[in-house]
Amino acid sequence: MTTAYLEEVNPWEAQVARSDLAARKLKLDEGLWKILRQPSREVIVHVPVQLDDGSLETFTGFRVQHSIARGPAKGGIRYSPNLTLDETRALASWMTWKCAVVNIPFGGAAGGVICDRDKMSKRELERLTRRYTAELMELLGPEKDVLGPDINTDEQIMAWIMDTYSMHMRHTVTAVVTGKPLGLGGSHGRTEATGRGLMIVCDEALKRLSMNRDQTRVVIQGFGNVGSNAAHLMHQRGYKIVGVSTSSGGLYNKNGIDIDALLIYHKRNNTLIGFRGTEETDSAQLSVTNCDILIPAAVENQITSRNADRVRAKILCEGANGPTTAEADDILTNKGVFVVPDILANSGGVTVSYFEWVQDRQGYFWSESVVNDQLDHTLRTSFAEVLRYAETHGVSNRIAAYMLAIDRVAYTLRQRGIYA
Ligand code: NAD
Repeated sequence: MTTAYLEEVNPWEAQVARSDLAARKLKLDEGLWKILRQPSREVIVHVPVQLDDGSLETFTGFRVQHSIARGPAKGGIRYSPNLTLDETRALASWMTWKCAVVNIPFGGAAGGVICDRDKMSKRELERLTRRYTAELMELLGPEKDVLGPDINTDEQIMAWIMDTYSMHMRHTVTAVVTGKPLGLGGSHGRTEATGRGLMIVCDEALKRLSMNRDQTRVVIQGFGNVGSNAAHLMHQRGYKIVGVSTSSGGLYNKNGIDIDALLIYHKRNNTLIGFRGTEETDSAQLSVTNCDILIPAAVENQITSRNADRVRAKILCEGANGPTTAEADDILTNKGVFVVPDILANSGGVTVSYFEWVQDRQGYFWSESVVNDQLDHTLRTSFAEVLRYAETHGVSNRIAAYMLAIDRVAYTLRQRGIYA
């Protein structure tokens, strides 16, 4: 890979390119931007874990708090063999902007551990999670930094984090983490929230483009929490899901895939491959397949300067964080692709995480329909605000979302003043 391409696919560089541009368009005070441009705190921990064979191993973990200007830091935990500090920085910054786009009172954070979940037993995963949490104890808390799920972390891991934190505090503290199981202070609707949010913003995009759901062909990359829930909900609502993929391959059927049957098949076999009535394909091919909506819902850098000109979707709705590089943005704009940027499109997850945090602190739990109605309202309002910003300032939807977010965070910072 060339140096230029390595820079293009560095998530931190991708984040900086967009936020710098948005700050310039806002004519933001240079000093304020110096503060907001960098994460405010970055922690690296080396976590000792006893493996099942009795040997000791250490795993490197990160927690980055980008901003706490608008409220407690909030962000996911990712377990991945390829996790880097730059990726974690980018995810933390995106969380700050995302929470501001949907106007919820959180700052942004992100974290994770360099590990291969597939090669670890459940006991090893539990020991790793508990020790990682213990190493970060002083930084965490419902008023300080609230964790949540991301790639390769789930409600079981959130339950262990909650329990470890609570053991140290000597009382149960449910609001230190979101995405917990329902019985431990989780919220109805959280598991599906990011996928539901994608469906809501796709509905809004269709309205803008005068398109109908039942004639809309959708391709979804990633069939984990975000991708599978988006597929399920959108299929139920009448969208035609023509392609789906995981890291081990994908499926395509131009007439639409029976998602309900595929969900059962995937759960039973832990693969999509072999599902009846579909052609095998791969994720890279799906990026450039003829469709109306492309939903990357897996990892970063799926749309880059190398394939953006071949994207054939009318709408790109970003379920993953950072699936598109900054270099691909102009190519997509010139092609007239309607982009719903990640910091708006996948904000359903953190919105319902906020509802979970509120419910935990209230000690009063909402019905699923209340959660879904509030989510619906938040996302439709935010979608309209981003589009209005884009029209008013003559910028792309992505830069509009960054401008709206940076403007909100900068406003708070100005009001609070700088303790310097
Ligand atoms: P997950 O671990 O549940 O699922 C990830 C999926 O992506 C798996 O199906 C995996 O096989 C697939 N995948 C990995 N590499 C792939 C590739 N190259 N091509 C195709 N598929 C690939 O993770 P998740 O929670 O669904 O998160 C997916 C993305 O959504 C991430 O970017 C995450 O940051 C973002 N996100 C998640 C949430 C959430 O609530 N979980 C919220 C906002 C954004």
